[in-house]
Amino acid sequence: MPGFVNAHSHTFQRALRGRAGGGDFWAWRDEMLLEADRQSPDSVRSDYAVWYGEMRSAGYTAVGEFHYLGLPEALAAAEAAAEAGIDLVVLLAAYGRGGLPRFRQDSADAFLGQVDTLRASGARVGLAPHSVRACPADWLEAIGTYAFAEGLPLHVHADEQPREIEECVAEHGVRPIELLARTGCLGPATTVVHATHADGHELDLLADVGARVCLCPTTEADLGDGYAPVDALLERGIPICIGSDSNVRIDPLEELRELEGIARRASGRRNVIPVETLLSFGAAEGAAALGLDRWPDVSVALEHPSLAGVARSDVPSALVSGCSGDVLTG
Ligand SMILES: [Zn+2]
Repeated sequence: MPGFVNAHSHTFQRALRGRAGGGDFWAWRDEMLLEADRQSPDSVRSDYAVWYGEMRSAGYTAVGEFHYLGLPEALAAAEAAAEAGIDLVVLLAAYGRGGLPRFRQDSADAFLGQVDTLRASGARVGLAPHSVRACPADWLEAIGTYAFAEGLPLHVHADEQPREIEECVAEHGVRPIELLARTGCLGPATTVVHATHADGHELDLLADVGARVCLCPTTEADLGDGYAPVDALLERGIPICIGSDSNVRIDPLEELRELEGIARRASGRRNVIPVETLLSFGAAEGAAALGLDRWPDVSVALEHPSLAGVARSDVPSALVSGCSGDVLTG
């Protein structure tokens, strides 16, 4: 079967698993920033090779690295991915304000210069204005223009936490996805990450242009973000893909199980998302979000205890309902 595609990863955050990280998202973020500041090209080169290897073992054969640690570290991530044998798209983050000094570029032009440098290295690249928190409106306009003119993916966090929405409304008078629309950042190559607290109008804007949403349910649960709006996305036909995000878990089948679980709990029904559709969220939709036409397949170990005795025709459903990524082999 097609390999799974991890459309949203901050791979260094794997180091944080098991750490309490305070009482809410913002307290966790403080701890995350400390970990980010410890990173170097050497640490990224060695640790990412291990963690990309874990992704490969769990059935992910391609990954979008949403990267805000700096350009030398982006090049190190590309080397690590090559060693681990996973296809990589570097989603290079634009960061105009907030965060750590190492995240930030001096201007939108300086960021686009970094994109050019990374592209010239041979890496596959997407543009990732980090969020409406981190990018002023004029940055968003410049980045949207460049991405769509060059036919590159544009990924952006939006509506993960209520506070971000309140701040956006206070600054711009509109909600985050409305601001992305106003600044020319929405199109078919756009992937909005999370959209947990997006309202109906924001989701309509995504549906109107054929944009995607990347859901990261194990991370969203771990961070207390809220429930992904699975039913509202399905209603509007908005394509969904998945990401391991903070990498508290590395398991595409668990992400998909969580999505279907959210939909079941919300609706009181079973088999809300047809299994073929669910599996396409884990593979083809993620590849489309990253601008990949091809990516490696995986095999299913039918003799694995999790699948022993399951009728062949039930295997796709059994993968999602009862298996972990260790039944998938490269
Ligand atoms: Zn993220």
